[in-house]
Amino acid sequence: MIPLTMTDARKHFEAGQMTAVEWVQGCLERIQRNDSALNAVLALEPTITLEAARKADARRARGERGELLGLPFVIKDNLQMRGWPLSQGSRVSGQDRGAFDATAVGRLLDAGAVPLAKANMDEFAMGSSGEYSAFGPTRNPWDGSRVPGGSSSGSVVAVAAGYAPLALGTDTGGSVRLPASFCGVSALRPTYGVLSRSGLTAMASSLDQIGPVASSVEDLVAALGGMAGRDPLDSTSVDLPGAERLAHLRPAPLAGLKIGLPQEYFSEGLSEATRTILVTAMDRLASEGAELVEVSLPHTRFAIDTYYLLNTSEVSSNLSRFDGVRFGERKPHQELHAMISRTRDAGLGNETKRRILLGAFCLSKGYYEAFYLKALKVRALIAEDFRKAFEKVDILATPLSPATAFPFGERTRHPLEMYLADVFTVTQALASLPALALPAGFDKGLPVGLQLVGPALSDVRLLEVGAAFQSLTDHHLAHPALPTPA
Ligand code: GLN
Repeated sequence: MIPLTMTDARKHFEAGQMTAVEWVQGCLERIQRNDSALNAVLALEPTITLEAARKADARRARGERGELLGLPFVIKDNLQMRGWPLSQGSRVSGQDRGAFDATAVGRLLDAGAVPLAKANMDEFAMGSSGEYSAFGPTRNPWDGSRVPGGSSSGSVVAVAAGYAPLALGTDTGGSVRLPASFCGVSALRPTYGVLSRSGLTAMASSLDQIGPVASSVEDLVAALGGMAGRDPLDSTSVDLPGAERLAHLRPAPLAGLKIGLPQEYFSEGLSEATRTILVTAMDRLASEGAELVEVSLPHTRFAIDTYYLLNTSEVSSNLSRFDGVRFGERKPHQELHAMISRTRDAGLGNETKRRILLGAFCLSKGYYEAFYLKALKVRALIAEDFRKAFEKVDILATPLSPATAFPFGERTRHPLEMYLADVFTVTQALASLPALALPAGFDKGLPVGLQLVGPALSDVRLLEVGAAFQSLTDHHLAHPALPTPA
């Protein structure tokens, strides 16, 4: 049985019962047995993986220790890793391969972590369900007829299915948190800037963040500790205050902790079962002395409109380089514009095209002020709502999704319905706040997640509170039965 968490692995290593090579071999076998059903993985490079595992074993034999040494991890396919394929979930990428290591990936590799696989994803990270990959949808390991959530579908399923104890996803408006909720794992969207974006294919640059996905808060902490910190290659990156506490993170004392419950997030639209599960979670925290306080974030109702106006505007600009000249597999034609048009028409999926068109419209003369500029102003109001709430409370607790994972095809015909799946996860991104997704229970066998949100740069504190919640509950210990069990 391969270890599913870093804590388990540490015990195996310390007892001399396992090498990194054995660990990754176990992971690769698990992928081979199950991934024709789940479709979470786009690329394996076993030679590179085994070589990295051998090096980790050699470092350990020389007496080196470290949570990340020999740890297999999965990487979303919009992150550069030298020599590995880089599809971004899109046909337009052709046979592209990573030219360098994204800073976050490189830091894990330096710490001795072992790259295991590139993960499936919605094309260019646009999507909420995992259905918009050019390489076919990923399946939810709890119920193969349901979506795993997106856009970091493969990364999250890789952890939920026990392929690897850690995966990197990205979160522009919820893309690690929503699938974490649908698949019963933990994930962090750090404060904007805490993880360098160097080597992440930009979708909406003012919102994009890399986020770790794992089976427990403890493991998120180890991953964040290995990756966080300023990077000269990303001028928006910052040092994380309190990062030194990550090495020995202790659960926060709950007595006296003020937890805000935003009334707009617990209103109609939230399924009764999800509400009951979250109320139970809050009661558990209150029984340890936390104080529950109702708060209001009045601009929440503009969240989806604001997010999608800004997101599509940035998408249309960022994706213009996939033109068959600078990037993208060219579909030749003697006339330049026809070549670009054929390249984009053949290479990009419908959702990507839809966003490029919407965004180009938002940014065009005459509409720029009415749409883009107005959305920027509302973004400031949404951030102000949070700032005021944090004058009264220490953290906020909210749902992650109105209900559990939905069946395939339910929302692909109506793009707006797909966008509405993000109703609880876009505001934190707009306000550049850290947000943590934690398993909180089950509704008819499907996982339900809880979201904790903190003030900007309070990521360490947020994880301390998350650790306290996880020490009181055991939802994160549940694992789905795989198509082909280990
Ligand atoms: N579902 C949101 C979108 O489609 C968020 C995506 C993301 O966070 N990458 O834009």
